[in-house]
Amino acid sequence: MLEIPNSAPIPLEEAQRLVLSAVQPLTVTRIPISEAHGYCLAEKLTAVHDVPQYDRSSVDGYALQVKDVRMANRSNPVKLHCLEEIPAGVIPTKTILPGTASRIMTGAPIPKGATAVVKVEESKIAEDGTGDIWIYQSVSSGEAITRKGEDMAKGTMLLPEGTLLGPVEVGLLALFGVSSVLVHVKPKVSILSTGSELVAADQPLSPGKHRDSNGVMLAGQIREAGGNPTYLRIVKDDPDLLAEQMLKALQKADVLVTSGGVSMGDYDYLGLAFEKIGAKVIFWKTLVRPGMPVLFGMWHHKPIFALAGNPASSYVNARLYLLPAIRRICGWRDPLSKHVMARCDERIEAKQMPHTRFLRGFVYTSQTGELRVKIAAKQSSNVLSSFLESNCLVKIPGGQGFEADEPVEVELLGTLGERVGMGTV
Ligand code: AMP
Ligand code: MG
Repeated sequence: MLEIPNSAPIPLEEAQRLVLSAVQPLTVTRIPISEAHGYCLAEKLTAVHDVPQYDRSSVDGYALQVKDVRMANRSNPVKLHCLEEIPAGVIPTKTILPGTASRIMTGAPIPKGATAVVKVEESKIAEDGTGDIWIYQSVSSGEAITRKGEDMAKGTMLLPEGTLLGPVEVGLLALFGVSSVLVHVKPKVSILSTGSELVAADQPLSPGKHRDSNGVMLAGQIREAGGNPTYLRIVKDDPDLLAEQMLKALQKADVLVTSGGVSMGDYDYLGLAFEKIGAKVIFWKTLVRPGMPVLFGMWHHKPIFALAGNPASSYVNARLYLLPAIRRICGWRDPLSKHVMARCDERIEAKQMPHTRFLRGFVYTSQTGELRVKIAAKQSSNVLSSFLESNCLVKIPGGQGFEADEPVEVELLGTLGERVGMGTV
């Protein structure tokens, strides 16, 4: 039997630590902000000017002096003389003096002398054709004026290095006139599915064969984490063929992911293939279910993730080790998935084993506003469909169980960034 170093099962946290310390960001590149969504910033950016750059009106209305309208109300309007109209993008030419006002649009610069803006709804143009206006409301000083630098003052930190660029971040970059940014390049990730029983989705299914669902599923997970996946289809359970295909894939990619063939069965050849290509085994088994067998190693600074074959195991393995590694390679500051606490709908029985368990579940907000989680009925590692009714993984520490209504740790299965895309939560 093959003697593999580092094959004793290790705890989840240790496995994640080993993965994250083995990988690092790739090179950086400068790209236009229109393409920057989903990339991670490789530079620190500060606000190069105030936003807004001048005091501006936050409503359509009249710029005026507060003291002129102190007594104004619906039954006692105040008449002011209108000096000019200031559309957005136009510099005012007149100074507001007592008894005068200027028509102003949202976003337009506040004219000199004005101390507030009254909304147009609280005004009426006088019918005598003089251009005078009636003001129906008193306002306090500064009302409806957005001050220079109120959104962000010049010199403050705009985005720290390692920020994942989403819609808001790229919007802010544009606001400050940053049209291109330095980002970490996304890793190329090759995916091989292993198993002589597997057939691709576009091939006919013969008796005893099984469709490869992991390949495209992993590609989707990798893309969500910021990687560039290539699905290289299926390799049969043949150690030489496997080693050959792995080498080919490694030469073209920054990361290699395989699924299947990683347990102790007679046709599980991943360990042997690692040896054949001269890859270093960092760990093989973890104290985690599903997905206890998972082989992680390095080939010339390129990480290889050999994930368990059963679809749910493969999915969970990918979330726990592969995706944090991809995020780190992409430059994320904090690549591990985040947890929230939710009260469990039902009792979770303790199991006499040291393994951390991940159960599929559905997080929802109860009628009383509490975050709760319902455990999915089907938890077998060969069942993929129960993820359809799940939006989270419930983390159960080794040996522990929970009573109904106790808080449990929940990892949301969100998309990019995991701050958004929480679906039905
Ligand atoms: P293995 O780890 O190779 O023994 O595979 C465990 C189980 O997962 C077997 O029933 C395989 O048929 C199944 N399996 C392995 N790879 C895949 C795959 N890519 N897609 C779907 N099922 C798979
Ligand atoms: Mg197999």
